[in-house]
Amino acid sequence: MARFNGAQWRPIPVNFTKGGQEAVQGVVIHIMDGSLSGTESWFRNSEAQASSHFGTGKAGALYQWVDTGDRAWAQAGGNRRWLSIENEGRGGDSLTDAQINRCAEVLAWAARTYGVPLQVTNDPTGRGLGWHGMGGSAWGGHTSCPGSNVRAQLPEIVRRAQQINGGGSSGGSAGGTYTVKSGDTLSEIGQRLGINWQSIASANGIPAPYVIQVGQKLTLPGARTYTVKSGDTLSEIGQRLGINWQSIASANGISAPYVINIGQVLRLP
Ligand SMILES: [Zn+2]
Repeated sequence: MARFNGAQWRPIPVNFTKGGQEAVQGVVIHIMDGSLSGTESWFRNSEAQASSHFGTGKAGALYQWVDTGDRAWAQAGGNRRWLSIENEGRGGDSLTDAQINRCAEVLAWAARTYGVPLQVTNDPTGRGLGWHGMGGSAWGGHTSCPGSNVRAQLPEIVRRAQQINGGGSSGGSAGGTYTVKSGDTLSEIGQRLGINWQSIASANGIPAPYVIQVGQKLTLPGARTYTVKSGDTLSEIGQRLGINWQSIASANGISAPYVINIGQVLRLP
C-alpha cells in the first residue's frame, strides 16, 4: 500500500480492486477527454467501472484516487501491473507544463518506491513510462489515448523525473537539483516532490529559519554531494574523489577563477 505525499489524497469508494496491484512495471499516461472535476465525479459513480491511481489538472493539481497497493481500473489487461495517471484535456491536446511536472513527480516517486526505470516504453511487457494505446486490444483498444501530441512529451516527463531523482541525463546540466521559483517554501517543495523537506535543508546546508531565494539551485537528497572544508580546492577535491575537477565546476556553475567557500555543498557529477 502506498500513497504519494506530493499528491492530494482523494480516495474514491468504488471502482478499484482492493489489494489487487500485483506488480508495478511502470506508469501509464492517459488523457481524460474531459475535465479533472468531471472525471473525479465519474470515478465516484459505481456505474463508471473505471478509475485511475492519479489525475492531473491543466493548472497543476495532482490527485491520488486509488492507493497503489490497490488495482485501479484504467487500462483493462494492463491494470494488474501498471500504475495509471489520467490527465485533464481533450484528445489531441498536449499536456501543460504543470501537468508534465506532476507526471514527472509521480514517475520519479514510482522509481524510488518500485524501482521503475526512468525510460519511455512502448511495450506492455516492458518497464518504464508507457501510454494507454500501447496495450492494444488487450488494454481496451484505446489506441488514441493519450494521442500523438502527449506521446511526444513522454521523453520530457522522463527527463524531469531523472532530474528530480538526481540521476542526471543530458550532459552538462547535472541532475538532482530543483531551482527555487517565486513563492516556493522548502516544505512545499518537499511535499510536491515527495521528499522530506528537512533532508533538503540539510543537503543544502540551510539552517533555520530556512530562507531560500528565487533562482537558488537546491540539491535533492539522493544526489552525491561534497561539502567544502577549510583548505580545499576544486582540483584537490577532484583528485581525492577521482572525479575530473572541471566537471565538478561545471556541474555547480562555477567558472574561473573557481572560487569555492567553506561549507559550500558541491553536487558531484
Ligand atoms: Zn486511457
